[in-house]
Amino acid sequence: MSRPVRVRFAPSPTGPLHLGGVRTALYNYLFARKNGGKFILRIEDTDQTRFVPGAEEYIMNSLKWAGMELDEGIIEGGEFGPYRQSDRKHLYKKYVDQLIESGHAYYAFDTPEELDEMRERLKSQGVPNPAYNHVTRQYMKNSISLPADEVKRRLEENQAYVVRIKVSRNEEIRFHDIIRGWVIFNSSQIDDKVIFKSDGMPTYHMANIVDDYLMKITHVIRGEEWLPSTPVHVLLYKFLGWEDMMPEFAHLPLILKPDGNGKLSKRDGDRLGFPVFPLNWINPETKEESIGFKERGFLPDAFVNILAFLGWNPGGTQELYKKEELIEAFSLERVSKSGAKFDFEKAKWFNQQYIKATPIDNLLESLRDEFISANIHKDDEYLKKYIQLFVDRVTFVKEFISIGYYMFKKPNSYDEVQFNKRWTKENIPATFDNIKTQLSELNDWKSNNIESVIKQVLNDNGCKSGDIMSTFRIMISGEAGGPPLFEMAEMIGKEEVIERMNTAIAYFSK
Ligand code: GLU
Repeated sequence: MSRPVRVRFAPSPTGPLHLGGVRTALYNYLFARKNGGKFILRIEDTDQTRFVPGAEEYIMNSLKWAGMELDEGIIEGGEFGPYRQSDRKHLYKKYVDQLIESGHAYYAFDTPEELDEMRERLKSQGVPNPAYNHVTRQYMKNSISLPADEVKRRLEENQAYVVRIKVSRNEEIRFHDIIRGWVIFNSSQIDDKVIFKSDGMPTYHMANIVDDYLMKITHVIRGEEWLPSTPVHVLLYKFLGWEDMMPEFAHLPLILKPDGNGKLSKRDGDRLGFPVFPLNWINPETKEESIGFKERGFLPDAFVNILAFLGWNPGGTQELYKKEELIEAFSLERVSKSGAKFDFEKAKWFNQQYIKATPIDNLLESLRDEFISANIHKDDEYLKKYIQLFVDRVTFVKEFISIGYYMFKKPNSYDEVQFNKRWTKENIPATFDNIKTQLSELNDWKSNNIESVIKQVLNDNGCKSGDIMSTFRIMISGEAGGPPLFEMAEMIGKEEVIERMNTAIAYFSK
């Protein structure tokens, strides 16, 4: 009988979420929604030495911004809480004791110096990756090698210890991965991992398994860097007698740098000028600030669409998928095994498409504060027309503030090269005198009327349309390119257009 789907996103609060982390969250989210299941946030903070202040809030804010609503989590609560591992500290010891009693785990008292010494000795004997395992454990200080009464004494004296899982020698450990098929490890490749420390904290492996079990997690969807840990987890399920509760695994491919091979890193983002974090992040130690996708101007739905396609595709040619469509189309079977290259140009294309598809009213709302800070105080009707006029020309929403600044104030400068190319032609200045006179007499200041007037004059004067249009455009906007000229002129208004023409003519006739 299949269990109701429950998946968790289980980040460690060791810094901002990286693109790969948000994608893991997204695939968990899509999978949960597609299967009518629950999407849970569990904070894995057992390694207190790696705790970074602000990271937990950052993770939650990122999920919220991207629209991945949680069913259970540290804020949302839920019947399987607490959802932060440091708040669950009291839950783990019992299972560790169970493993020790059944002979699947043991106490180890080795000091850091003794561990170093062991590694050095083995290295000098030509062992490339020395490990605490079925061979070395025999001559280290642990409850397998030491006499029982000494173990007892050490424990009574409260000597520092760790608990290690006892991994057997030369045993095949196999598990099925939804993305990779059957994965087989040999237990000799695995060391006796520390699962618990005498400060009462479990390590990642132990806490992760106990929590997945107690929280009734059905599918573990996580990055491929956790693949080597999975045999340890499989052993723990077996040793604890929870095999029938073992979740299914799906290990997601890496997100690769755009150029060359290898995992996408923050350094690649810095080097190539794109964000790798969803939101702005200030490193609490160095105070270094990294820009997020949000602040760079990405719309959350575009961001989600971009992420979804980094390692998954539904087949076919459609690329624009709204969240609901992604949920409908998503399946782990269509996640690829090989890494997905991040392409920032493609990401920008997605954002552009989403901007075009966003209702003008919504774009206006999202820009309102920025318009005010930029000292732009036009009525909504004007602002909406403006947005409509420029919507095909922006990649990021905030570009609206600067791209057509001349729709709000006089041009700052002129494209002089383009202007002079035409202004020096014989009858152009005279033609513009005519145009100006005719435009001043135009009563119904509408784009089509402006167009007729200008076309009439340029025909009468035998000018080239291109010369007149470019010159007119530079006079009123300063720029040689832009959106439809006559619509621009209509919006700027008659008096202002004439005034700008006068200013430009005076400037270029000097
Ligand atoms: N805490 C691990 C991380 O930081 C979780 C891995 C897992 O999902 O099991 O990614």
